[in-house]
Amino acid sequence: MRPFTYQRATDLHAASRLGASTAQGQTDASAQFLAGGTTLVDLMKLDVLRPARVVDISPLRADLADIVLTGRGLHLGALATMSKVAAHPDVRRAYPAIAESLSLAASDQLRNMASLGGNVLQRTRCAYFRDPSWEACNKRRPGSGCTAIQGYNHNHAVLGVDESCISQYPGDLAVVLAAFEAEVELSGPAGARRLPFASLHREADGQPHLETNLRPGELITGFSVPAGAWTRRSIYLKVRDRASYEFALASAAVGLDMEGDTVRQARIGLGGVAYRPWRSREAETALVGKPLNEATAKVAAAAAFAGALTHGGNDFKPELGRRTLVRALLEAQVLALPEAG
Ligand code: FAD
Ligand code: SF4
Repeated sequence: MRPFTYQRATDLHAASRLGASTAQGQTDASAQFLAGGTTLVDLMKLDVLRPARVVDISPLRADLADIVLTGRGLHLGALATMSKVAAHPDVRRAYPAIAESLSLAASDQLRNMASLGGNVLQRTRCAYFRDPSWEACNKRRPGSGCTAIQGYNHNHAVLGVDESCISQYPGDLAVVLAAFEAEVELSGPAGARRLPFASLHREADGQPHLETNLRPGELITGFSVPAGAWTRRSIYLKVRDRASYEFALASAAVGLDMEGDTVRQARIGLGGVAYRPWRSREAETALVGKPLNEATAKVAAAAAFAGALTHGGNDFKPELGRRTLVRALLEAQVLALPEAG
Protein backbone atom coordinates (compact mmCIF):
# COMPACT_ATOMS: atom_id res chain seq x y z
CA MET A 1 0.00 0.00 0.00
CA ARG A 2 1.26 3.49 -0.81
CA PRO A 3 1.86 6.05 1.93
CA PHE A 4 -1.03 8.43 2.62
CA THR A 5 -2.01 11.08 5.14
CA TYR A 6 -4.78 10.09 7.57
CA GLN A 7 -7.07 12.82 8.94
CA ARG A 8 -10.20 12.67 11.07
CA ALA A 9 -13.16 14.92 10.34
CA THR A 10 -15.03 15.84 13.48
CA ASP A 11 -17.85 17.79 11.81
CA LEU A 12 -19.38 18.21 8.35
CA HIS A 13 -17.56 21.46 7.70
CA ALA A 14 -14.20 19.83 8.44
CA ALA A 15 -15.12 16.83 6.28
CA SER A 16 -15.82 19.05 3.26
CA ARG A 17 -12.69 21.11 3.84
CA LEU A 18 -10.36 18.15 4.35
CA GLY A 19 -12.01 16.20 1.55
CA ALA A 20 -12.18 19.09 -0.93
CA SER A 21 -10.22 17.09 -3.49
CA THR A 22 -12.31 13.94 -3.20
CA ALA A 23 -14.01 12.95 -6.41
CA GLN A 24 -16.01 9.85 -5.55
CA GLY A 25 -16.18 7.32 -8.29
CA GLN A 26 -12.88 8.37 -9.80
CA THR A 27 -9.72 6.36 -9.34
CA ASP A 28 -7.41 9.36 -9.54
CA ALA A 29 -9.02 11.35 -6.69
CA SER A 30 -6.30 12.62 -4.42
CA ALA A 31 -8.47 12.33 -1.31
CA GLN A 32 -10.98 9.68 -0.24
CA PHE A 33 -13.46 9.61 2.62
CA LEU A 34 -13.20 6.60 4.90
CA ALA A 35 -16.36 5.23 6.51
CA GLY A 36 -16.24 1.51 7.40
CA GLY A 37 -13.25 1.05 5.12
CA THR A 38 -14.41 -2.36 3.83
CA THR A 39 -14.13 -1.30 0.20
CA LEU A 40 -11.69 1.58 0.31
CA VAL A 41 -8.92 -0.26 2.14
CA ASP A 42 -9.22 -3.27 -0.19
CA LEU A 43 -8.85 -1.07 -3.25
CA MET A 44 -5.91 0.80 -1.74
CA LYS A 45 -4.15 -2.50 -0.96
CA LEU A 46 -4.78 -3.61 -4.53
CA ASP A 47 -3.25 -0.31 -5.73
CA VAL A 48 -6.43 0.53 -7.66
CA LEU A 49 -7.14 3.61 -5.52
CA ARG A 50 -4.14 5.75 -4.61
CA PRO A 51 -5.35 8.64 -2.46
CA ALA A 52 -2.72 10.92 -0.99
CA ARG A 53 -5.14 11.73 1.82
CA VAL A 54 -7.75 9.63 3.63
CA VAL A 55 -10.38 11.57 5.56
CA ASP A 56 -11.98 9.46 8.26
CA ILE A 57 -15.66 10.43 8.61
CA SER A 58 -16.53 7.82 11.23
CA PRO A 59 -16.50 10.49 14.01
CA LEU A 60 -19.66 11.85 12.32
CA ARG A 61 -21.50 8.63 13.08
CA ALA A 62 -23.12 10.13 16.18
CA ASP A 63 -25.02 12.60 13.96
CA LEU A 64 -25.39 10.66 10.74
CA ALA A 65 -26.64 7.22 11.75
CA ASP A 66 -30.34 7.81 12.37
CA ILE A 67 -33.04 5.36 11.29
CA VAL A 68 -36.36 7.20 11.47
CA LEU A 69 -39.77 6.18 10.14
CA THR A 70 -42.45 8.88 9.83
CA GLY A 71 -45.66 9.25 7.86
CA ARG A 72 -43.62 10.81 5.04
CA GLY A 73 -41.24 7.92 4.72
CA LEU A 74 -37.99 6.46 5.98
CA HIS A 75 -34.85 8.44 6.75
CA LEU A 76 -31.52 6.65 6.94
CA GLY A 77 -28.30 8.33 8.00
CA ALA A 78 -25.36 7.64 5.68
CA LEU A 79 -23.21 6.31 8.52
CA ALA A 80 -25.80 3.88 9.85
CA THR A 81 -24.31 0.40 9.56
CA MET A 82 -25.78 -2.18 7.23
CA SER A 83 -26.44 -4.53 10.15
CA LYS A 84 -28.31 -1.94 12.25
CA VAL A 85 -30.59 -0.97 9.36
CA ALA A 86 -31.18 -4.59 8.32
CA ALA A 87 -32.26 -5.52 11.85
CA HIS A 88 -34.37 -2.43 12.59
CA PRO A 89 -37.99 -3.45 13.27
CA ASP A 90 -39.49 -0.43 11.46
CA VAL A 91 -37.43 -1.11 8.35
CA ARG A 92 -38.27 -4.82 8.39
CA ARG A 93 -41.98 -4.09 8.75
CA ALA A 94 -42.48 -1.07 6.49
CA TYR A 95 -39.65 -1.52 3.94
CA PRO A 96 -38.85 -5.25 3.93
CA ALA A 97 -37.04 -5.02 0.58
CA ILE A 98 -34.52 -2.63 2.14
CA ALA A 99 -33.92 -4.90 5.12
CA GLU A 100 -33.54 -7.95 2.85
CA SER A 101 -31.16 -6.21 0.43
CA LEU A 102 -28.86 -5.48 3.36
CA SER A 103 -29.11 -8.77 5.21
CA LEU A 104 -28.40 -10.74 2.00
CA ALA A 105 -25.25 -8.68 1.33
CA ALA A 106 -21.65 -9.48 2.28
CA SER A 107 -21.09 -11.14 5.70
CA ASP A 108 -21.96 -10.42 9.35
CA GLN A 109 -18.55 -8.93 10.01
CA LEU A 110 -18.68 -6.68 6.97
CA ARG A 111 -22.23 -5.54 7.70
CA ASN A 112 -21.21 -4.57 11.24
CA MET A 113 -18.49 -2.27 9.89
CA ALA A 114 -19.93 -1.04 6.61
CA SER A 115 -22.01 2.10 6.25
CA LEU A 116 -24.90 2.79 3.89
CA GLY A 117 -23.01 5.67 2.23
CA GLY A 118 -20.01 3.44 1.51
CA ASN A 119 -22.31 0.65 0.38
CA VAL A 120 -23.98 2.62 -2.39
CA LEU A 121 -20.57 3.95 -3.53
CA GLN A 122 -18.87 0.56 -3.74
CA ARG A 123 -16.98 -0.10 -6.96
CA THR A 124 -17.43 -2.80 -9.54
CA ARG A 125 -16.05 -6.28 -8.87
CA CYS A 126 -14.80 -6.61 -12.48
CA ALA A 127 -11.55 -8.56 -12.05
CA TYR A 128 -9.75 -6.41 -14.63
CA PHE A 129 -10.66 -3.25 -12.73
CA ARG A 130 -9.39 -4.70 -9.46
CA ASP A 131 -6.04 -5.88 -10.85
CA PRO A 132 -3.81 -3.08 -12.16
CA SER A 133 -1.58 -5.59 -13.98
CA TRP A 134 -4.26 -5.58 -16.68
CA GLU A 135 -3.47 -2.65 -18.96
CA ALA A 136 -6.83 -2.20 -20.63
CA CYS A 137 -9.61 -1.01 -18.34
CA ASN A 138 -11.39 2.21 -19.26
CA LYS A 139 -12.76 2.54 -15.75
CA ARG A 140 -9.31 2.45 -14.17
CA ARG A 141 -7.25 3.92 -17.03
CA PRO A 142 -9.45 6.12 -19.23
CA GLY A 143 -9.02 5.43 -22.92
CA SER A 144 -7.12 2.14 -22.44
CA GLY A 145 -9.90 -0.18 -23.66
CA CYS A 146 -11.97 -2.90 -22.02
CA THR A 147 -10.44 -6.33 -21.45
CA ALA A 148 -13.73 -7.85 -20.29
CA ILE A 149 -15.51 -7.47 -23.62
CA GLN A 150 -13.38 -10.26 -25.16
CA GLY A 151 -12.37 -11.74 -21.81
CA TYR A 152 -14.00 -13.26 -18.73
CA ASN A 153 -17.41 -11.63 -18.41
CA HIS A 154 -19.53 -14.16 -16.53
CA ASN A 155 -20.57 -11.57 -13.91
CA HIS A 156 -20.84 -8.61 -16.22
CA ALA A 157 -23.82 -6.43 -17.01
CA VAL A 158 -26.28 -6.79 -19.86
CA LEU A 159 -28.32 -3.60 -19.31
CA GLY A 160 -26.96 -0.06 -19.63
CA VAL A 161 -23.63 -1.19 -21.07
CA ASP A 162 -21.71 0.32 -23.97
CA GLU A 163 -18.47 -0.47 -25.75
CA SER A 164 -16.49 1.48 -23.16
CA CYS A 165 -17.45 -0.71 -20.16
CA ILE A 166 -19.69 -3.70 -19.44
CA SER A 167 -19.06 -3.91 -15.70
CA GLN A 168 -21.83 -4.80 -13.30
CA TYR A 169 -22.90 -2.56 -10.42
CA PRO A 170 -22.47 -5.01 -7.54
CA GLY A 171 -24.44 -3.51 -4.61
CA ASP A 172 -27.87 -4.60 -3.38
CA LEU A 173 -29.29 -1.69 -1.36
CA ALA A 174 -28.91 0.78 -4.24
CA VAL A 175 -31.20 -1.32 -6.42
CA VAL A 176 -34.04 -0.85 -3.94
CA LEU A 177 -33.30 2.84 -3.44
CA ALA A 178 -33.39 3.44 -7.20
CA ALA A 179 -36.71 1.62 -7.59
CA PHE A 180 -38.34 3.23 -4.54
CA GLU A 181 -37.60 6.81 -5.70
CA ALA A 182 -35.30 7.61 -2.81
CA GLU A 183 -33.37 10.86 -2.58
CA VAL A 184 -29.77 11.15 -1.52
CA GLU A 185 -28.77 14.02 0.77
CA LEU A 186 -25.39 15.64 0.25
CA SER A 187 -23.22 18.12 2.04
CA GLY A 188 -20.25 19.81 0.39
CA PRO A 189 -18.16 22.96 0.17
CA ALA A 190 -21.08 24.79 -1.52
CA GLY A 191 -23.61 23.64 1.10
CA ALA A 192 -26.31 20.98 1.23
CA ARG A 193 -28.32 19.61 -1.68
CA ARG A 194 -30.47 16.62 -2.57
CA LEU A 195 -30.44 14.44 -5.65
CA PRO A 196 -32.85 11.76 -6.83
CA PHE A 197 -31.02 8.55 -5.95
CA ALA A 198 -31.44 7.46 -9.56
CA SER A 199 -29.17 10.36 -10.61
CA LEU A 200 -26.35 9.52 -8.20
CA HIS A 201 -24.69 6.96 -10.47
CA ARG A 202 -23.78 7.97 -14.01
CA GLU A 203 -24.24 6.01 -17.21
CA ALA A 204 -21.04 4.64 -18.77
CA ASP A 205 -21.49 6.95 -21.76
CA GLY A 206 -17.95 6.40 -23.03
CA GLN A 207 -16.49 7.67 -19.73
CA PRO A 208 -16.82 4.81 -17.24
CA HIS A 209 -14.09 6.28 -14.97
CA LEU A 210 -16.68 8.91 -13.93
CA GLU A 211 -19.10 6.90 -11.83
CA THR A 212 -21.15 9.37 -9.82
CA ASN A 213 -22.48 12.92 -9.95
CA LEU A 214 -20.96 13.84 -6.59
CA ARG A 215 -19.03 17.11 -6.64
CA PRO A 216 -15.52 17.39 -5.16
CA GLY A 217 -15.68 17.35 -1.38
CA GLU A 218 -19.31 16.21 -1.29
CA LEU A 219 -20.33 13.79 1.37
CA ILE A 220 -23.47 11.67 1.44
CA THR A 221 -25.25 12.49 4.70
CA GLY A 222 -28.41 10.43 4.32
CA PHE A 223 -31.19 8.91 2.26
CA SER A 224 -34.92 9.65 2.26
CA VAL A 225 -37.20 6.94 0.97
CA PRO A 226 -40.74 8.17 0.40
CA ALA A 227 -43.78 6.45 1.84
CA GLY A 228 -45.78 4.55 -0.76
CA ALA A 229 -48.43 1.90 -0.89
CA TRP A 230 -45.84 -0.44 -2.42
CA THR A 231 -43.24 -0.33 0.35
CA ARG A 232 -44.80 -2.86 2.74
CA ARG A 233 -45.55 -5.39 -0.02
CA SER A 234 -41.93 -5.44 -1.09
CA ILE A 235 -39.26 -8.03 -1.56
CA TYR A 236 -35.60 -8.29 -2.56
CA LEU A 237 -34.74 -11.56 -4.28
CA LYS A 238 -31.07 -12.31 -4.89
CA VAL A 239 -29.72 -15.14 -7.03
CA ARG A 240 -26.00 -15.94 -6.80
CA ASP A 241 -23.44 -18.67 -7.38
CA ARG A 242 -23.53 -19.66 -3.69
CA ALA A 243 -26.08 -18.93 -1.01
CA SER A 244 -24.11 -16.55 1.20
CA TYR A 245 -21.24 -14.08 1.13
CA GLU A 246 -21.60 -13.55 -2.60
CA PHE A 247 -22.64 -10.81 -4.99
CA ALA A 248 -25.79 -11.11 -7.09
CA LEU A 249 -25.75 -12.71 -10.52
CA ALA A 250 -29.29 -11.37 -10.80
CA SER A 251 -31.57 -9.73 -8.29
CA ALA A 252 -34.95 -8.05 -8.26
CA ALA A 253 -36.43 -5.46 -5.93
CA VAL A 254 -40.20 -5.46 -6.21
CA GLY A 255 -42.79 -3.28 -4.48
CA LEU A 256 -46.46 -3.75 -5.28
CA ASP A 257 -49.61 -1.78 -4.64
CA MET A 258 -52.46 -4.21 -5.37
CA GLU A 259 -56.21 -3.97 -5.60
CA GLY A 260 -57.28 -7.58 -5.32
CA ASP A 261 -55.26 -9.36 -8.00
CA THR A 262 -54.76 -6.22 -10.05
CA VAL A 263 -51.58 -4.16 -9.95
CA ARG A 264 -52.33 -0.52 -9.12
CA GLN A 265 -48.67 0.49 -9.04
CA ALA A 266 -45.37 -1.34 -9.16
CA ARG A 267 -41.79 -0.42 -8.37
CA ILE A 268 -39.15 -2.66 -9.92
CA GLY A 269 -35.37 -2.57 -9.59
CA LEU A 270 -32.83 -5.00 -11.06
CA GLY A 271 -29.41 -5.84 -9.68
CA GLY A 272 -26.45 -7.94 -10.82
CA VAL A 273 -27.41 -7.43 -14.46
CA ALA A 274 -26.93 -3.70 -15.03
CA TYR A 275 -24.17 -1.14 -15.26
CA ARG A 276 -25.72 0.96 -12.50
CA PRO A 277 -28.58 0.54 -10.00
CA TRP A 278 -31.41 -0.14 -12.43
CA ARG A 279 -35.07 0.74 -12.29
CA SER A 280 -37.20 -0.95 -14.93
CA ARG A 281 -40.02 1.43 -15.81
CA GLU A 282 -40.72 -0.84 -18.81
CA ALA A 283 -41.62 -3.72 -16.49
CA GLU A 284 -43.62 -1.44 -14.20
CA THR A 285 -45.65 -0.06 -17.11
CA ALA A 286 -46.33 -3.55 -18.43
CA LEU A 287 -47.98 -4.50 -15.12
CA VAL A 288 -50.09 -1.47 -14.20
CA GLY A 289 -53.81 -2.22 -14.47
CA LYS A 290 -53.18 -5.92 -15.16
CA PRO A 291 -53.95 -8.94 -13.01
CA LEU A 292 -50.69 -10.33 -11.65
CA ASN A 293 -50.09 -13.93 -12.66
CA GLU A 294 -47.29 -15.93 -14.26
CA ALA A 295 -48.24 -14.82 -17.76
CA THR A 296 -48.31 -11.08 -17.00
CA ALA A 297 -45.15 -11.36 -14.89
CA LYS A 298 -43.38 -12.97 -17.88
CA VAL A 299 -44.50 -10.14 -20.15
CA ALA A 300 -43.10 -7.60 -17.66
CA ALA A 301 -39.83 -9.52 -17.39
CA ALA A 302 -39.52 -9.66 -21.17
CA ALA A 303 -39.99 -5.88 -21.29
CA ALA A 304 -37.32 -5.40 -18.62
CA PHE A 305 -34.68 -7.25 -20.66
CA ALA A 306 -35.72 -6.20 -24.17
CA GLY A 307 -32.59 -4.05 -24.49
CA ALA A 308 -30.13 -6.60 -23.06
CA LEU A 309 -26.71 -6.90 -24.71
CA THR A 310 -24.57 -9.94 -23.91
CA HIS A 311 -20.88 -10.75 -24.50
CA GLY A 312 -20.51 -14.55 -24.41
CA GLY A 313 -19.74 -15.40 -20.79
CA ASN A 314 -22.88 -13.61 -19.63
CA ASP A 315 -25.26 -14.93 -22.30
CA PHE A 316 -27.24 -16.64 -19.53
CA LYS A 317 -28.03 -13.41 -17.71
CA PRO A 318 -31.13 -12.13 -19.53
CA GLU A 319 -32.91 -15.45 -18.95
CA LEU A 320 -31.75 -15.64 -15.32
CA GLY A 321 -32.81 -12.01 -14.83
CA ARG A 322 -36.26 -12.64 -16.33
CA ARG A 323 -36.80 -15.71 -14.14
CA THR A 324 -35.63 -13.83 -11.05
CA LEU A 325 -38.07 -11.01 -11.70
CA VAL A 326 -41.00 -13.35 -12.37
CA ARG A 327 -40.31 -15.19 -9.11
CA ALA A 328 -39.97 -11.96 -7.14
CA LEU A 329 -43.26 -10.62 -8.51
CA LEU A 330 -45.17 -13.79 -7.68
CA GLU A 331 -43.60 -14.00 -4.20
CA ALA A 332 -44.39 -10.35 -3.47
CA GLN A 333 -48.01 -10.89 -4.54
CA VAL A 334 -48.63 -13.53 -1.88
CA LEU A 335 -46.73 -11.82 0.96
CA ALA A 336 -48.61 -11.80 4.23
CA LEU A 337 -48.56 -8.12 5.13
CA PRO A 338 -47.67 -7.12 8.68
CA GLU A 339 -50.02 -4.77 10.53
CA ALA A 340 -49.52 -1.11 9.64
CA GLY A 341 -48.23 0.91 12.56
P1 FAD B 1 -15.79 2.54 2.66
O1 FAD B 1 -14.93 1.41 2.21
O2 FAD B 1 -15.37 3.30 3.84
O3 FAD B 1 -16.02 3.53 1.47
C1 FAD B 1 -16.36 3.09 0.16
C2 FAD B 1 -16.28 4.29 -0.79
O4 FAD B 1 -17.31 5.21 -0.49
C3 FAD B 1 -14.98 5.07 -0.65
O5 FAD B 1 -14.62 5.54 -1.93
C4 FAD B 1 -15.33 6.21 0.29
O6 FAD B 1 -14.52 7.34 0.04
C5 FAD B 1 -16.77 6.48 -0.10
N1 FAD B 1 -17.64 6.93 0.99
C6 FAD B 1 -17.97 6.23 2.10
N2 FAD B 1 -18.91 6.89 2.81
C7 FAD B 1 -19.15 8.04 2.14
C8 FAD B 1 -20.03 9.14 2.35
N3 FAD B 1 -20.86 9.17 3.40
N4 FAD B 1 -20.03 10.15 1.45
C9 FAD B 1 -19.22 10.12 0.38
N5 FAD B 1 -18.35 9.11 0.13
C10 FAD B 1 -18.34 8.08 1.00
N6 FAD B 1 -22.09 -5.34 -0.92
C11 FAD B 1 -23.33 -5.64 -1.33
O7 FAD B 1 -24.16 -4.74 -1.50
N7 FAD B 1 -23.67 -6.96 -1.55
C12 FAD B 1 -22.81 -7.98 -1.36
O8 FAD B 1 -23.18 -9.15 -1.54
C13 FAD B 1 -21.50 -7.68 -0.92
N8 FAD B 1 -20.58 -8.66 -0.69
C14 FAD B 1 -19.31 -8.32 -0.30
C15 FAD B 1 -18.34 -9.31 -0.12
C16 FAD B 1 -17.07 -8.96 0.25
C17 FAD B 1 -16.03 -10.04 0.42
C18 FAD B 1 -16.71 -7.59 0.47
C19 FAD B 1 -15.33 -7.19 0.89
C20 FAD B 1 -17.66 -6.63 0.31
C21 FAD B 1 -18.96 -6.97 -0.10
N9 FAD B 1 -19.91 -5.99 -0.33
C22 FAD B 1 -21.18 -6.32 -0.72
C23 FAD B 1 -19.53 -4.58 -0.29
C24 FAD B 1 -19.73 -4.01 1.09
O9 FAD B 1 -21.11 -3.96 1.36
C25 FAD B 1 -19.09 -2.63 1.03
O10 FAD B 1 -17.71 -2.85 1.13
C26 FAD B 1 -19.52 -1.71 2.14
O11 FAD B 1 -20.91 -1.52 2.15
C27 FAD B 1 -18.82 -0.37 2.01
O12 FAD B 1 -19.14 0.44 3.13
P2 FAD B 1 -17.97 1.14 3.98
O13 FAD B 1 -18.62 1.99 4.97
O14 FAD B 1 -17.01 0.12 4.49
O15 FAD B 1 -17.30 2.01 2.82
FE1 SF4 C 1 -12.68 -2.08 -16.99
FE2 SF4 C 1 -15.32 -1.89 -17.26
FE3 SF4 C 1 -13.97 -3.29 -19.01
FE4 SF4 C 1 -14.16 -4.19 -16.49
S1 SF4 C 1 -15.82 -3.98 -17.93
S2 SF4 C 1 -12.33 -4.15 -17.81
S3 SF4 C 1 -14.24 -2.26 -15.35
S4 SF4 C 1 -13.77 -1.08 -18.64
